Amino acid sequence: MSSDEVLSDFECLCCGGCCAINGFVCVSANELQEIARRLGLSVADAHERYTVKRLIAGHEAVVLRDHLGTTRCIFLNDENRCIVHPVKPRQCREFPVGWKDGSSHTHCAALQRLRANEVGTCRRE
Ligand code: SF4
Ligand code: SF4
Repeated sequence: MSSDEVLSDFECLCCGGCCAINGFVCVSANELQEIARRLGLSVADAHERYTVKRLIAGHEAVVLRDHLGTTRCIFLNDENRCIVHPVKPRQCREFPVGWKDGSSHTHCAALQRLRANEVGTCRRE
């Protein structure tokens, strides 16, 4: 079974794990504009309420806030759903397939399940 075949079976378990990673979700000006429109806010309000600036690899970036005192993204609700799902940032849309550093499986229960199944179907010749 190839990696592509495995990923074609990918089914998100809505565990919220990828939205609670201790890291950053960068958001571009265009993405913030879409999020603001979705939420019925001005861009300035969305910027103030939902983003902070962080130095990442020596560059200042605009990133999404977390819920206070947690690593859960500010847009993750109590049911582990993203309240801006249709307009979520590219970094979120690319998870887990677009994450090239190989760390996706450490955060994603669905990927772990697929990998376990893949091992289970492996046969010796
Ligand atoms: S924007 Fe949505 S998909 Fe992205 S980390 Fe936040 S809750 Fe998760
Ligand atoms: S960690 Fe994986 S299974 Fe959980 S919500 Fe994110 S994509 Fe879905």
